[in-house]
Amino acid sequence: MTAATADNLDTGAVIEVLAGLLPDGAPLHEPDLGGNAWTYVKDCLDTGWVSSVGSYVDRFERMVESFTGAAHAVATVNGTAALHVALQLAGVRPGDEVIVPTLTFVATANAAAYQGAVPHFADSEPPTLGLDPRKLERYLETIAGPGADGPHNRGTGRRIGAVVCMHTFGHPVDLDPLVAVCQRFDLPLVEDAAESVGSTYKGRHTGTFGRLAILSFNGNKTITTGGGGAILTGDAELAAAARHLTTTAKAPHRWDSAHDQVGFNYRMPNLNAALGCAQMEQLPALLAAKRRLAEAYEHAFDGVAGVRFMVEPPFARSNYWLNAILLDPDRAADRDAVLAATNDAGIMTRPAWTPLHRLPMYRDCPRMDLGVAEDLYRRLVNIPSGPRLAPAADG
Ligand SMILES: *Cc1c(COP(=O)(O)O)cnc(C)c1O
Repeated sequence: MTAATADNLDTGAVIEVLAGLLPDGAPLHEPDLGGNAWTYVKDCLDTGWVSSVGSYVDRFERMVESFTGAAHAVATVNGTAALHVALQLAGVRPGDEVIVPTLTFVATANAAAYQGAVPHFADSEPPTLGLDPRKLERYLETIAGPGADGPHNRGTGRRIGAVVCMHTFGHPVDLDPLVAVCQRFDLPLVEDAAESVGSTYKGRHTGTFGRLAILSFNGNKTITTGGGGAILTGDAELAAAARHLTTTAKAPHRWDSAHDQVGFNYRMPNLNAALGCAQMEQLPALLAAKRRLAEAYEHAFDGVAGVRFMVEPPFARSNYWLNAILLDPDRAADRDAVLAATNDAGIMTRPAWTPLHRLPMYRDCPRMDLGVAEDLYRRLVNIPSGPRLAPAADG
């Protein structure tokens, strides 16, 4: 173990904490496919109901609705497709700008681009890592002006179609002030809740605050359907439109095959939904395990100088999807040493996503000052987070 100096973070102490809690070769996040997974998937194979029509899709949607409290859930092939359709249903049109955080997975901005819109990047705040509602409000005060069909960016002349927030690593953004800002500027809020199934804000599930929201059930998320996602909304008409758009906009008829708009083949297959039903049954236990792991991390990192474990914001209960440590501001230069030392020691870690405004396809997009997101990116390291890494309950 190396001794801490004024100039260098004690990477040895970080490794000691991680190695003390984790097995050798701990991955960043792996699925836990227990419970009825095998039974339900086998049932699909036995009955031949493997594709987009089948009882597990309905059952999975009802389970997602009752768990999240969303009035309507529409299951999709993945979270990115769900976000694409959610933006279209929120009214985003080609040529619009869509406010998105720069510190997010690339899918958040890609979904806007699929819709022909331009991502407009917004900054984060440290307690949540997500959109800073107060900074966004001050910014909109300077750039947004009224237009015949909604607010416009006075600088670019483009309409602003929507605000997308993202609950980073499962930590909810500060939704009350964000909802208020969106109302004040007459902008629909769409929640990219891909990472936050099981996370609540003041007792209410994330994904139930925006006009629409999406979840992801990719293999690395808290629960998985192999690949999958869902659109959530409280609006019955939007839910019906989401169902229609994601099933190729087929006009209902006993035998005619006709379509009334350009739709998408985005519905979740029954085979994936079967796995999803089993995962939904497991979700409370998985969330409890992830919380135990986070608590163990919080406690263990308490004694390590120069590093802080990212805890849930005070107004929220996080699913702790992906755990993170933040190096102190004056230790940012040591991030790559921490990444190298941990990966060398067989503990999988990685930095946050490269802020999206730095990617080649989004380099020229409009943006506010992004100083906080840039700073967080430089100091953040994700650490292993799978539910199977948790210490035993009541240990
Ligand atoms: C995982 C994820 C998505 C969607 O991912 P899919 O792999 O398409 O299900 C979207 N946004 C964020 C922030 C994500 O983490």
